[in-house]
Amino acid sequence: MTARMLDGRGLAEDLRVDLRGRVDRLRAERNGATPILGIHRDPASTAAPLYAASLERAARSVGIEPAVASIGELTEEPEALLERWNRDPAVAGVVIAQPFADAARGRALVEVIDPAKDVDGATPTNAGRLARGEPAFVPATALAVIAILEGYRIPVAGRRAVVVGRSAVVGRPVFSLLLVRDATVVVCHRATADLAAETRRAELLVVAAGVPGLIGPDMVHPSAVVVDCGITSVDGRIVGDVDPAAAEVVTAMTPVPGGIGPVTPMMVLRQTVEAAERLGDG
Ligand code: ADP
Repeated sequence: MTARMLDGRGLAEDLRVDLRGRVDRLRAERNGATPILGIHRDPASTAAPLYAASLERAARSVGIEPAVASIGELTEEPEALLERWNRDPAVAGVVIAQPFADAARGRALVEVIDPAKDVDGATPTNAGRLARGEPAFVPATALAVIAILEGYRIPVAGRRAVVVGRSAVVGRPVFSLLLVRDATVVVCHRATADLAAETRRAELLVVAAGVPGLIGPDMVHPSAVVVDCGITSVDGRIVGDVDPAAAEVVTAMTPVPGGIGPVTPMMVLRQTVEAAERLGDG
């Protein structure tokens, strides 16, 4: 059989329309003030400017004003700018586009963000809240996994979920989000002894390893729903972690590109709108 394709582009469009309406309402309530998303990036890193640019475009498309700052082009310490954004009531959300060429510097800057404006769930405070099962801002890719499952009415509670990857931005937060939704979750990583034995038992399989084709058709169960978070450029093409041939075996699967990718920036914006709505409530 051929899997049902869990299309992320259509879902992202629906989310965009909903967010645009919420931003319009906010602006009407606040004398035309537009919520601002501060985006900080390191131009020395190759991936960060791309992420920042896609966020910037997506923000404009829902009526959120992006303010982009580049480390190295500032006339002040980046900490000073971040502190200013923290204090400015017009700035609803702050994102530091990772990675930084100097990873330790990137992490240190993240810790300056006010957790109430941390709309990409990057601060240790929000990571801690999420790990404890408390309300928190969540890394956007992890939230996009849940948005796809919810958007396609795929049940999570009581199901056996397997997450491949344990990074702070995808694997770990996905684990917490599935756990709080009552899934039984196994997390696999580089040292997992028999990856195929684990993934074959998954009813929900979320893959975030950054290894193209890691999950082959022989590693999935026919009843599985597969969410592929992998985005790797191979010969100028974007490919996922799941071999497209797995779609011949499983029940449903996200494509790459066009699955998780388009939904991810919408999650940053949704959390920005939530932060703006909350800021206004004082
Ligand atoms: P991402 O941002 O997609 O989460 P990272 O490179 O930060 O990517 O993390 C990769 C994760 O994938 C790590 O947790 C690592 O253990 C896992 N991983 C990488 N290769 C394999 C593999 N061959 N088998 C199982 N897990 C793997």
